Amino acid sequence: MVKEQMKQNRRRIDKCKQYADSLIKFINQSPTSYQAVETIKNTLLEHNYLPYKPNQTTQLQTGDRYFYVKDDSAIIAFEIGVNPLSEGFKIFGAHTDSPALRIKPHSISIKENVIRLNTEVYGGPILSTWFDRPLSLAGRVTIKGQEQFHPETRLIDFQKPILILPNVAIHMNREVNRGVEIKADQHLLPFIAICDQQDLNRNWFEQLIAEQLYLEPDHILDYDLFLYDTTPGCIVGINQDFISASRLDNLGMCFSGLNAMINLTPEHEFNGINVLLYTNNEEVGSLSKQGARGMFQRDILESICLNLGGTRQDFLNIFDHSVMISADQAHAVHPNYSEYADPDHRPKINGGPVIKLAAALSYATDSKSAGFFIELCQAADIPYQRFVNRSDLKGGSTIGSIVSAIMPLSTVDIGNAIWAMHSIRETGGVKDIYYLDQVLKLFFSI
Ligand code: ZN
Repeated sequence: MVKEQMKQNRRRIDKCKQYADSLIKFINQSPTSYQAVETIKNTLLEHNYLPYKPNQTTQLQTGDRYFYVKDDSAIIAFEIGVNPLSEGFKIFGAHTDSPALRIKPHSISIKENVIRLNTEVYGGPILSTWFDRPLSLAGRVTIKGQEQFHPETRLIDFQKPILILPNVAIHMNREVNRGVEIKADQHLLPFIAICDQQDLNRNWFEQLIAEQLYLEPDHILDYDLFLYDTTPGCIVGINQDFISASRLDNLGMCFSGLNAMINLTPEHEFNGINVLLYTNNEEVGSLSKQGARGMFQRDILESICLNLGGTRQDFLNIFDHSVMISADQAHAVHPNYSEYADPDHRPKINGGPVIKLAAALSYATDSKSAGFFIELCQAADIPYQRFVNRSDLKGGSTIGSIVSAIMPLSTVDIGNAIWAMHSIRETGGVKDIYYLDQVLKLFFSI
């Protein structure tokens, strides 16, 4: 009996490890929101999803699977189930971007014989974690197109350590362990090379990009480039309890939704319309055409209703019977800094998905949407937890409240508990990935 139980536990641990390994692979392939969307798009294509043209007049029907990409960095994927217009949307929302350092247009700054790159902070990273790590560059490059005024874009990823941001030695700053101010304009210029030429070509950096893309330098018009950590994620702990990786916030959630939706058995019948809604720019407030404050997601969902044979009124009514799970990572109580957690709400690593609530409505959760998610966890037979900010702390926000204000549907904000949110390297729980997968598979299959 004991032996059988041990075997069963072993099988579960193996399954959890398998999910964690797949997530690490997904994160390694997705250094920026551009590559994340490309990775998601390729996975959807492998699972018979087709590109969706919102102006098409083709009628949609049960079983149809499509995806729509906005500005290379946001994506909506959907599958039509049974009674789509009367059952409504089942949306799983997340964001594709993570805090990072962005390269400025005039990128080169030479000092003390070192070529450095000019950067600007994107979102709210824990800046100290970007020091002393092998870094690389990835993102998107805009190049001249076939027609004038219609440039094209190419994804770019140097895929190897080409940059480093060294700390100052403790012997020169004895106060370094007491908390040090990091000045973005002075201290966040990573080193790319020793400068051994008297006058470096003004387009030295553009030439590097051109070589990487096998293009002539004068084809390069502009770029959206971000730094990232090249050290791959891994599973940590003597019992393999933890996952340590960059961009768990929020690629961890993007991975879970995608994995659950594509792994529904093809012949399985479900009600309504399953939707993945992954927007960009959450880390800077979501106000962009590809962000949650933009209108593209509402336009696409309206187009789905119309192409199903519905009317504008059907679209306006559909939100009354639609739901959304807005997923973004949550804070686990930290044993070394446990004073920051609310005394009576203390989410644990590997304790199951966390339902997030805020009186200020920085999360969209209310008792009705929380109730729906609690029932879902109970039906999937997995644990769940609750998060609120300590009453005197402001806390974070995410896309849930924004989307549910633009599209008035019942929304719950959830996430897996992690430590060191917005560090270059965040820590989560291996079992939590498995738990969330169980609940999302149920969500998409009902
Ligand atoms: Zn996030």
